[in-house]
Amino acid sequence: MHTKIKPIYKRVLLKISGESLQGKKDFGIDSTFLNRIIKEIKILISFGIQIAIVVGGGNLFRGSCFSDLGINRIFADNIGMLSTIINGLAIHGFMSKFSINSYLMSSFCIPSICEVYNREKAIKLISNNSLVIFTGGIGNPLFTTDSAACLRAIETDSEIVLKATNVNGVYSDDPKKNSNAIFYDSIRYKDVINNKLKIMDSCSLILARDYNLPIRVFNINKHMSIYKAALGIKEGTLIYHR
Ligand code: UDP
Repeated sequence: MHTKIKPIYKRVLLKISGESLQGKKDFGIDSTFLNRIIKEIKILISFGIQIAIVVGGGNLFRGSCFSDLGINRIFADNIGMLSTIINGLAIHGFMSKFSINSYLMSSFCIPSICEVYNREKAIKLISNNSLVIFTGGIGNPLFTTDSAACLRAIETDSEIVLKATNVNGVYSDDPKKNSNAIFYDSIRYKDVINNKLKIMDSCSLILARDYNLPIRVFNINKHMSIYKAALGIKEGTLIYHR
């Protein structure tokens, strides 16, 4: 059945938010969710699509929670970045469960559990159809894992960032608060930035725009949405240049 499928992308970077990993739980990692998405990823790998993953940490800790802790934002962001490594370890473990050859890299040096990020090694691994999981964000506070996704995608020559979230795509306004919010099938970077549409932080959008990296935002909770997004089948919103 799969032999007729001709993928339009050879290499994609999948950004999985921490919130998505939470699945139906209030906190942490939902194994039912991971089992489901890894099955989709396995099909894509069988088509020869090369996949790297950047994972967020919002299910465990966000730097913006710093005021709750009463500590400096920089400490809080470091906690946030470490939480992405915990998520990466969980994804890596599930990949192993499904016999997918995966490597865990981090912007931080924690040699007993993962490799430190190395662009050349990552490209070699991805080119050999191993799945590489990038964790630790960009390794600096005051950024987000969306910036890390765009950065690592550009560094490793991915053709697109597939931003998996809990929303269907980009809207003119928050659809939960405004029932007249317009959904966009596609939208230019500059319109997202100029209209301050809250889908990603402006740093990551500007990086993607400057390096002409398209981003597809889609709802990971929809059945086979990663599969469709990676195959270029209409799913969510495409953010593009012109
Ligand atoms: N973070 C950071 N620098 C980075 C990436 C992440 O400081 O390059 C911190 C930041 O505190 C952020 C947290 O890690 O709130 C978790 O990442 P993010 O919020 O992007 O995760 P997601 O929303 O994708 O789950």
